[in-house]
Amino acid sequence: MEILLSKEAGFCFGVKRALKLTNQTLEKSNGNVYTLGPLIHNPQVIEDLKNKGVLVVQGMDEITTGVVILRSHGVSPKLYQQILDSGLDIVDAVCPNVKRVQKLVSQLKQEGYTVVVVGEKNHPEVMSIPGIVEGDTIVIESIEQAEKFPQVERIGMVAQTTQTCEYFRKIAGILLHKTFELRVYHTICDAVERSQQDSYKIAKQVEMMLVVGGKNSANTSRLAQICADSGCVTYHIETASEIQPEWLKGIKKIGITAGASTPPWIIEGVVAALQVV
Ligand code: SF4
Repeated sequence: MEILLSKEAGFCFGVKRALKLTNQTLEKSNGNVYTLGPLIHNPQVIEDLKNKGVLVVQGMDEITTGVVILRSHGVSPKLYQQILDSGLDIVDAVCPNVKRVQKLVSQLKQEGYTVVVVGEKNHPEVMSIPGIVEGDTIVIESIEQAEKFPQVERIGMVAQTTQTCEYFRKIAGILLHKTFELRVYHTICDAVERSQQDSYKIAKQVEMMLVVGGKNSANTSRLAQICADSGCVTYHIETASEIQPEWLKGIKKIGITAGASTPPWIIEGVVAALQVV
C-alpha cells in the first residue's frame, strides 16, 4: 500500500509553544500546575500532561495555590481578570494568532463597527473574544445566519483561526450587501491554511484519507470535512487503534493528515499500523 503523508500534519507553532511553556513550568514548579480547560484539543496529550502533573480544571474556584497556564485557545476577558485577581502565578500559553483576533475585535469595537466573528460560538477560542460572552460581538455559524443578518452601517469581520478561506469569503460576500462599509481581517491561521490545502491535494490523489486528531479538535474536524468534500472516503481517528481492517480492503493508495494538536508519536503510530497491512 502506498502512503501519502501530509508534510503539514501535526503540531503547529502555537501548540509547540504551549507545550514548551508547560514543560518549562513543570520543571520549575513543585506541583500544582493547572490549565483552565484542556491546554490543546488532543485527549492523548492531555492525559500525558496529567500524568506529569498538569491538571485540567473548569473554573478558578477549583484552584487555591500554584500556577495557572492559559491555554492556546485563550480565555475570556472576564475570566482573565478573575485569574489576575486571584494573585496566582500565570503562564500565558495563548497562541499569538488567537491574541491577534482578540486585539482586532477590541479595535473594531472601539472604532464603532458591528463586529462579526465567523466561527463556532461554543468553541473556547471564540468564547475568548471580547464581547462574545456579553453578546455584543456576533458569531455567524452558517450561510443562513449571514443571509438573515440585518442591515447595519459598518461591519468589521474576523474569522476563528481554523475556518476555511473559502467559507470566510462566502460570508464576506453576503455581508457586503448588508452594510455601507465592510472591513475584513484575514485571521485564518497560516498553519491551518497550509494544512487544509495540502490535505485537499492529497485527498484528490488517494482512495482513502485518514485524518488523525482529537474528536474535540475544530481544526482536525475541519480537515476531515475538507477531505470528505473532495470526494475521498475519509475517516477521522484519534489513534491507530481505531483503524478497522475492512476500511483497508482493496485500498492501494492512502493519505494521512493530522490536526495542529496531534503529536508526532500518534501520527507515527498510524503510519506504522498501515505499513504492516
Ligand atoms: S492552529 Fe494556528 S492559531 Fe491555532 S494554535 Fe496553532 S498556530 Fe495558533
